[in-house]
Amino acid sequence: MCITRTNTVLSHKLRMPTALLSVIACLLSAPALALDYSGGTLLADPSPVMTPFTEQVLTLSLGMLLALMIFNICIFIRARKSSYLFFAIYTGATLLYLVSHDASRLDLPAFILEGWANQQPLFFAAIAAAFAIRFMLSLVPVKEESHLIYVACRTLYSTLLLIAGSCLLNLTSLDQPLTILFHGVLAITFIALSTSSLILVRKAHSNTSFFFMGWLVISLGSLASLLAIEGYTNDVLRWAYFPALVVQAIAFSLALPAYTTTLYRTYQQNYALMENSLQRHYRHRRIYNDAVKHYLDNLNGMDEEAIGSRLLATLNSLLPINTCALLHIRNNQISVIGLSGQQKVVFEQLVDGRLTLLGNIARSAEEATLQMQYGHHQAASFSIIPVLWESSHTWTVVLLRQHDKTPLDKDQLQLASDIASHTRTLFQASKRYDELRREADLDDLTGMCNRRAFQRDATAMLKRLQQETKPATLLYMDIDHFKPLNDTYGHAFGDKVLQMFADVCRDNLRSRDLLARMGGEEFVALIPHATPARTEQIAERIRTGLLALKFEELESEKVTLSIGLSSTEHCGYNLDRLLDSADRALYRAKSDGRNRVRHSEPETQSLI
Ligand code: GH3
Ligand code: MG
Ligand code: MG
Repeated sequence: MCITRTNTVLSHKLRMPTALLSVIACLLSAPALALDYSGGTLLADPSPVMTPFTEQVLTLSLGMLLALMIFNICIFIRARKSSYLFFAIYTGATLLYLVSHDASRLDLPAFILEGWANQQPLFFAAIAAAFAIRFMLSLVPVKEESHLIYVACRTLYSTLLLIAGSCLLNLTSLDQPLTILFHGVLAITFIALSTSSLILVRKAHSNTSFFFMGWLVISLGSLASLLAIEGYTNDVLRWAYFPALVVQAIAFSLALPAYTTTLYRTYQQNYALMENSLQRHYRHRRIYNDAVKHYLDNLNGMDEEAIGSRLLATLNSLLPINTCALLHIRNNQISVIGLSGQQKVVFEQLVDGRLTLLGNIARSAEEATLQMQYGHHQAASFSIIPVLWESSHTWTVVLLRQHDKTPLDKDQLQLASDIASHTRTLFQASKRYDELRREADLDDLTGMCNRRAFQRDATAMLKRLQQETKPATLLYMDIDHFKPLNDTYGHAFGDKVLQMFADVCRDNLRSRDLLARMGGEEFVALIPHATPARTEQIAERIRTGLLALKFEELESEKVTLSIGLSSTEHCGYNLDRLLDSADRALYRAKSDGRNRVRHSEPETQSLI
């Protein structure tokens, strides 16, 4: 951000009146000044009297102006702010004016250009006044405050540059009436700028008081000099414009830090505001990011329903809404999968018949606002935020309605959209997590659960059954003489037997039964809500089912199965004990001749 204010270029519309007013200002100043300057005494004072004291004051003034000029040039070089340059030009021109006008009287090296002696002081005076105005315009927002003052300032500025130009072209000389007229412009400049800056001070631009002070001092200094030269006051005052010019330069130079400080404060305030608004935004971002990270770390148990209800809860807590619904649009059907703040029946009426419209919005993947009327309610604005699009036929959108039924504003929509996008991440992650988990749980060859998944799910199932005091049984199944089958007919045949056996199991078990391959040709099934007698029937069906399979590779040979059966009745709800017990029953089935089912015995008996 720019610390100082740079003046704007005059608009095209303003140029004509400025030029016109410049000419008028020149003409108007003539009669006023012509009266006092009739003898040209001020401009070519024939007998100036200078005491050693005034000499010292004047020399000191020159030194101060020189210091101010150099200081501001240095700052300009460093800061590159035009205000410092304008100020340096102004002080430099003032210095040169004094040197060219009074050098001979001060015992200083003359700064008079050959053949240009008469034009030189006026030239520098005009440049000094012009750049004093330019400097003021670069700091004070005159244009915003008063168009009239702005036009006046620009007019005087242009007029002064015209005067400087005419001096350069040797169009005028000290003793000509035109020069008197030009000095009139200078006088008008001082008075006009004093008045203007006073008006600006009263318009709460307190910093302009430095300009008011500067212009007032130079106006009074010039007046005092004029009166002294004309013999109305003490002669020493004829040099009053000298210190007045220095005081003016000091007052103007004080305006610089004052304005810079004010602008810096505004900048700081703006920055603070900006930072606050950003912080709010960032805070929300951080909350979502943290929440999403937390959910991603703990995806276990985050199913789609849980994510959906979290989405609605988050939207409800952050936005001024009283209806929030998560809709699933699949194969030309809308289902409400989450809803808050509204009765489901009423809401279904609302979305009923708006399938195409909602579908189109979902497909566009952009937020939209819809006016909808439903039930006995008046029409209300609903904001629709697409959340997820799984395929070209399946989308999830969220529908929001504000308390006051007006649409959500841009920021609120953005917020809802941000949350929806985080939810999308969660949905996708949860889906992928499920896929990976399913893959990790499955046995490639048979498509059954593997040992690890069985351990986990069976433990959970037994815990639940124990709480419900419902029985369960476990089958431990082992294909007989599988190794010789493998060795004789090959590994591929062995695999085929395993796959077909898996189908037999599935055909004879319900979906809620847990079936798993424990490794090799060993399988287990945990059957909830079943008595040992009922389970024995199931086991027999599986055994005979495998026995009935016909393999073209085998001639008359049959694939048989031995099964050990254990139950919670005998072993309690401990999985290891159930497995162990069933394994021992299986061993007995093997030792009894294979191709049969054996029950586990109470543990005390087996230990004997
Ligand atoms: P028993 O009647 O006593 O159970 O004898 P068995 O031959 O069935 O028992 P054993 O444990 O000696 O042999 C199991 C065989 O199962 C050994 C191994 O080659 C085979 N096997 C293990 N996993 C696979 C598999 O994934 N595919 C195939 N084709 N064979 C497997
Ligand atoms: Mg085995
Ligand atoms: Mg075996």
